[in-house]
Amino acid sequence: MGTLTPARLIPPGRLIRRELEERGWTQKELAEIVDRPVQAIAEILQGHKQITPETAQELAAALGTSAEVWMNLETAYRLALAARDNEKRAAAIARMATIHNLVPIPELLRRGWISRPRDLQDLEQQVRGFLGVESLHFVAMPAVNFRQAQAREASPGALLAWLRRVETIARQQKVPPFSYSALEAGVPRLLDMAAHSTYIPRVPQTLQDLGVHFVIVPHLQRTYVDGAVLWRDDRPVIALTLRHDRVDNFWMTLMHGIAHVVACHQGIHIDTFDDDAPTAMHESPDEHHADQMARDWLLDAGALATFVAEARPLFSADAVKRFAAAQARTPDIVLGRLHTDGLLEFDRHRFLIGRVRPLLQPWIDTADPESLGSTKRRDDMCTPEPAIPTLATETWDRIVQHKGRPFNTKTGKQFTYSIVGTSVKPNHTERLIGKSDFARAWQMMPIPGPAPLRDIVQGPAYVWAILNDPRIVSVNAPA
Ligand SMILES: [Zn+2]
Repeated sequence: MGTLTPARLIPPGRLIRRELEERGWTQKELAEIVDRPVQAIAEILQGHKQITPETAQELAAALGTSAEVWMNLETAYRLALAARDNEKRAAAIARMATIHNLVPIPELLRRGWISRPRDLQDLEQQVRGFLGVESLHFVAMPAVNFRQAQAREASPGALLAWLRRVETIARQQKVPPFSYSALEAGVPRLLDMAAHSTYIPRVPQTLQDLGVHFVIVPHLQRTYVDGAVLWRDDRPVIALTLRHDRVDNFWMTLMHGIAHVVACHQGIHIDTFDDDAPTAMHESPDEHHADQMARDWLLDAGALATFVAEARPLFSADAVKRFAAAQARTPDIVLGRLHTDGLLEFDRHRFLIGRVRPLLQPWIDTADPESLGSTKRRDDMCTPEPAIPTLATETWDRIVQHKGRPFNTKTGKQFTYSIVGTSVKPNHTERLIGKSDFARAWQMMPIPGPAPLRDIVQGPAYVWAILNDPRIVSVNAPA
């Protein structure tokens, strides 16, 4: 819309009034002259009533002008009014488009990061609040170091929204003070957890104990991000998307992030690990450094070289498993490395790659708050000491209610148990199985048998039997 000449917005009524003033006539007089109700004349003068061809004729006759003059004035006035209204509408549409270009509104709504807006103003206000900015016209992207600059057309607004969400969750977490030396000393403990994927649920708490915020916010459609490292109040935040639901990708992204922190790399690092994206081209020295540290942490370089020399070019699944076991790593970590190093086609032995999302479920910022009951989850996640997972009170209550009743292990051994404090004591053993053991195991369910619980909980066979019993897991279980 162009600019409007103000003259065009003068209602014809004002010109009629001027004519009346010149003649010393009142509105009532004009009404009598043209034989119309005074009310009708008043409305025309105020611009509320349009001048029809008949009125134009009458005015022309009364005021000694032409009917065309009045019709033209009227038409010009109405067109200008319409243009002004359209301009407002066009401006509103443009504002709406700006907001939608800035951040992925439908995804923000779907995830409950903003609520359904009442109107444009409300939407603007919510988005400003979410992004923590005064004005949507001056939204600056934080200074970000990309592992792969423009690897894909990531949308800055989507990245910004993702980062803001990460910050919001980190802000709600309480973690002890951070020290570089403590984190560095803690790296071997974290790497020990790469020996078996059932240890992965312990990783978040271990990191938090080391003063590192750990956040999982699923990727938005156009972020193409695997992870990021940022800082908040002198504490690092390691954020993951788990975009690739793979154990090997989890470890690589995590250790790469930890490497950024341990190596004192400054600023925000956003990392994308794509199977199919050629790397190295755009990478900074920091990225190379972090990559190298992560790779060396995850697999001993010398041992890997020997293994590669011996097992290439076929790298049988058994050979991969054997080497992984010798390195105390899950086979997918070895496989992922062979894939990224171009030693093995990406589709080989994919069955060895485990899924990671189910293992970290309580830490994943829920994508759909309504269906998943996010407030509960978020509370769990943000309590000062989120003892890894928590067991639903009802589930624990049902375990307590069923003391003394017969249960069967997977292998068919019958047992009963008693409750000692907040522990379960099966009748065949003196061992106490804590409520936290059940919580840890609960988080891993469903699993086909107790084997993955070994090293994770006390009395895995009993824990598995109890947590798989319909009287415990079913809400409508008979008492
Ligand atoms: Zn990086």
